Amino acid sequence: NKEMLLIPGPTPVVDEIYDALSSETYAHTDPRFVKIFKNSLEQTKKLFNTDGEVFVIAGSGTLAMEIAIINTVAPGEKLLVISHGYFGDRFIPLAKAFGIQVETIQAEWGEHVRKEVIEDKLASGDFKAVTVTHVDTSTGIMANLEELVPVVKKSGALFILDGVCAAAAIDEDMQKTYGDPSYTIDVVLTGSQKAIGVPPGLAIVAFGSKALAAREAIPSVPGYYTDIKNWLPIMQDPGKYYATPPVNMIYAFNKGMEIVMAEGLSERYQRHAALGKAVRAGLKVYGMKPLAPEAIAAPTLSCVLYPEGVNDAKFRSRLAEKGMVIAGALASLSGKAFRIGHMGNATESMFKKALELIGETLKEMGHEANVEEAVAEFTKVYHTR
Ligand code: PMP
Repeated sequence: NKEMLLIPGPTPVVDEIYDALSSETYAHTDPRFVKIFKNSLEQTKKLFNTDGEVFVIAGSGTLAMEIAIINTVAPGEKLLVISHGYFGDRFIPLAKAFGIQVETIQAEWGEHVRKEVIEDKLASGDFKAVTVTHVDTSTGIMANLEELVPVVKKSGALFILDGVCAAAAIDEDMQKTYGDPSYTIDVVLTGSQKAIGVPPGLAIVAFGSKALAAREAIPSVPGYYTDIKNWLPIMQDPGKYYATPPVNMIYAFNKGMEIVMAEGLSERYQRHAALGKAVRAGLKVYGMKPLAPEAIAAPTLSCVLYPEGVNDAKFRSRLAEKGMVIAGALASLSGKAFRIGHMGNATESMFKKALELIGETLKEMGHEANVEEAVAEFTKVYHTR
């Protein structure tokens, strides 16, 4: 019996993906592997619907962030970071490490940045690109793309979307237009371990044509492994060699993408939206309050404040003993809230079980909890679509 890994990633890995992962390692130039690699890239292109190219490279989400930044913004150029929490903030030291001039707009944790503040900031300077974190994993806040894409693109800057906690759960169609044909997303990045449901190990970045052109215009980027120009021939023809691809991770990723596509993107996005609402509705029965107002709460994970008097460390370690793992909250919320992931291939029955275990644990710790009502509320909301 596997643990229920309900942290905000890595997420539960289904057996088909483990089977793929443990298949025999072929030569990275073997046509059988090349075919699988190619298929995984084609599916990734469909996921993001990019008019450019996708890059799937050994590494984690942070590497994907780095690839996105250094291939679009040259040292000395300006980047605006829009942050709804800890992972939004990560772009600041990252870009500074490459001599990029960084300015930042940070929201109070649990709130959205204000559109007017962004407009003013963009009007004040020549920003090459703007980063937005689709779902900030520290706060469970989902950025409002309908509002942000037009504001950013109107200024002429590139729109870089951190989709680590969103891709394959929330729509990130790069050719979708937000009110004007030129208002589109230029770069989306993610990792394998969240809503795609594959173990950690892959950095995934999609560049649109405008972002590829931005790379062409930079004479030399401060990276070698991270320079997409070195990877472009491989992504176009995975039989070519640049650096050895993680063969078994690509098997797993290909299977993960097949599962995503078999479900269908629109069904998958609707399922996640319903799941997020339902998990929060169930937890509210226990007096647990999501940090994000429901209108801006993420389909993929929730940061939830404890009711008065619940000891975080004890609560989470008791759940772990029962086979369910959730994450602590970060920074100033540490000890006051926990984070629960609800994405990827995690199932309805897992969350019913999770709500039961949470209720039982609260009772053991001397708090009140109506388990039946919480599970019923979850089920009702989940099936109201
Ligand atoms: N961005 C977001 C939104 C994330 O949630 C994470 C990881 N939790 C990262 C970036 C960094 O990814 P990784 O830990 O895979 O390097």
